[in-house]
Amino acid sequence: MNTHAMTMEDFRQEFLADHPDFDNHEQVVFRRLPEFGVDVIIAIHNTVLGPALGGARLWKYPTKAAALTDVLRLSSGMTCKNALAGLEFGGGKAVVIADPQRDKSPALLRAFARTVNDLEGRYISGEDVGLTPPDMDILAEVTPYVRGGTKGPAGDPSPFTALGVFEGMKEARRFKFDDERIAGLTVSIQGLGNVGWRVAEMLHEAGAKLVVSDIRGDRVKEAETAFGATAVDPEKSHRVEADIYAPCALGAIINDETVDEIAAPIVAGSANNQLAASYHGQLLAERDILFAPDYVLNAGGVICLARQDETGPEIESRVRSIARTLRKIFETAARENLPTSMVAGQMARSRLKHRAG
Ligand code: NAD
Repeated sequence: MNTHAMTMEDFRQEFLADHPDFDNHEQVVFRRLPEFGVDVIIAIHNTVLGPALGGARLWKYPTKAAALTDVLRLSSGMTCKNALAGLEFGGGKAVVIADPQRDKSPALLRAFARTVNDLEGRYISGEDVGLTPPDMDILAEVTPYVRGGTKGPAGDPSPFTALGVFEGMKEARRFKFDDERIAGLTVSIQGLGNVGWRVAEMLHEAGAKLVVSDIRGDRVKEAETAFGATAVDPEKSHRVEADIYAPCALGAIINDETVDEIAAPIVAGSANNQLAASYHGQLLAERDILFAPDYVLNAGGVICLARQDETGPEIESRVRSIARTLRKIFETAARENLPTSMVAGQMARSRLKHRAG
């Protein structure tokens, strides 16, 4: 009889290695916070370029399996995002499985911060869905391994993310139609949160017509008033006959059901992991839809966190350089007849290989 005893940690890592989204993660930490009935997962994907930097998401997932899938995919995405943004940080992400409305409290945030602190800087946390800059201030009371918050020089990263998305939209227009003007275009924005709202503001100022959707009716009403936007059901956002479709809510929005229904010639939005599976990038390319890979386009926030000691204008100029990276991706994809999502992945891996080699 084989009596080899596995530790719980070996057992977990072996099961994890079979997970479809495992993608050779260096470390995945599971922590239960019994006093809150809340589970935390911190995924560290790759630290070749430096400590793993990525946001923490506080979200009410339907199942723990869904949370694990999300954190693994987001964490791998952070490795590519940080590599292509030229940062000296690796990729990681955290999820706190809790309802932001019901469960979020300073005590819960401090308990999460202790888990981050235990990793002694291998993972550095920023904000993501469900967390705000004031929440990051609370984490920073407990651990130095936090970026963002209200007091740092850079503050809220969302406006930088929105700026990168806006610049990336112009680059996509320039590449596909040789015309970067925004005035007169119609843009369908799905999700009017921290990023989506600011993207809407910039597009409105630049003279675009907006079609907006959000599961929060109050945000939609505000956008109708502030921007003269037209509202559409969130389920139909991708079907709008727009010049640009901008997914700015949650991921996997480009999937088997939606991919053939997308009506815009350009997809450019802030949401992480927009492609439900990598073959959806191929399907978009076959339909001649130009996809701006999400982790390239939405790197403004992490650039701001990584460079938080620089001035606002310095960070802004780095964020604007996202457009140059996108241009390279678009050109390579066109030359080699490959999906833009695949080219972005290849470029990121090549930076890691050079560093590791
Ligand atoms: P947020 O939570 O402030 O906003 C998300 C908005 O989407 C909310 O208004 C929500 O009501 C809405 N929403 C949720 N489900 C929806 C649906 N099915 N249809 C339409 N609307 C829906 O989040 P955020 O900070 O604006 O981030 C938006 C996306 O961009 C996320 O995927 C996030 O991971 C990504 N992102 C954000 C940043 C950043 O700096 N905040 C950086 C990189 C990537």
